[in-house]
Amino acid sequence: MLEAVVNQEIEEKGPLSQSRFMELALHHPIYGYYRSREAVGQDFTTSPEISQVFGELIGAWAIDYYEKLGQPQALSLVELGPGKGTLMADLLRTAKVCPSFSEAINIHMVEINPILQAIQQKIIPYPLTYVEKFAAIPDSSHPLIIIANEFLDVLPTNCYVRKEHILYERCIDIQNGKLGFTLIKRVENKGPDQIWEESPQTISLIKGICSQLLKQGGIFLCIDYGYEQGNGESLQALFNKEPSHPLSNVGKSDLTCHVNFGRIKEIALLHGLGVVGPLSQGKFLKNMGLDIRIGMLKNKNPLKSVSLEKGATRLSHPLHMGNLFKVMAIFSPSSLIPIGFEE
Ligand code: SAH
Repeated sequence: MLEAVVNQEIEEKGPLSQSRFMELALHHPIYGYYRSREAVGQDFTTSPEISQVFGELIGAWAIDYYEKLGQPQALSLVELGPGKGTLMADLLRTAKVCPSFSEAINIHMVEINPILQAIQQKIIPYPLTYVEKFAAIPDSSHPLIIIANEFLDVLPTNCYVRKEHILYERCIDIQNGKLGFTLIKRVENKGPDQIWEESPQTISLIKGICSQLLKQGGIFLCIDYGYEQGNGESLQALFNKEPSHPLSNVGKSDLTCHVNFGRIKEIALLHGLGVVGPLSQGKFLKNMGLDIRIGMLKNKNPLKSVSLEKGATRLSHPLHMGNLFKVMAIFSPSSLIPIGFEE
């Protein structure tokens, strides 16, 4: 279905930029992967689905920040791409230790997926307001706590190649009746031979978040796989938990690119915001008390000791998600430094 839409657009307009291809494959209003599939737990598994401790520690982190903000009477708690709602449900259960937090929050879910929206509403026992874009959340004077786990990696990303002082864009075309990559010559461009990515949607989202944080105060916690410095291309596809070719199974596989944390940091600093991280997920979770919390749960449920340990290892060990995933926070005022980022 979606392949026909992609083919038609190429026939009408010529080769597609990688970001346009990703936009159609992931976000096409009817056939896009994130409009039509449960995705989370099917083609890939995320940290909140691996262990309840992930969302619980983020809950403790959010309460700490709420206290740093001076326990405001109203607070907008925003999650970008909440998946099955597990992180939010675990966070809110933990937050019960602080009744004033639970009373202060208005929860905004940024989610385009109707199947996931239904799952979220079932497991989260709080009123939820839905928007499709962060920019659609109404302005208010309340501080923000914004959380995004594995969200930025699904935003459409372009890929460029500079070879012998010529800039090419990697595009998607039809070759021998099938979708294929092609390099389209753009302009002369001085510099070393290099391949790199740029995500216009990520940049505009981060700029929007920065200006809201400046206006309303608060923090954005972002967890994803990515890099702070470096080049290369990172488009990858997962289909039934197995890597697949990004141009096959269009609309049926998850497509992601690594997040450029260096670029996000640069934008936040230009806005005069505070920045901490990117720090490895393993270190952040340990700083937040991963081992202590696992110990408590093991004492309560000795029969679950092995699976609790396994989950903690998957989330924090450098050979699993511990190093690949990074945690970063941007915040205003820049003097209110969040916990968890001690090196
Ligand atoms: N944070 C969740 C899910 C990550 S998968 C977890 O950790 O389990 C990506 C999530 O972002 C899904 O909920 C998906 O439906 C949502 N999503 C993808 N593209 C989106 C977009 N353009 N706008 C809003 N939500 C989007």
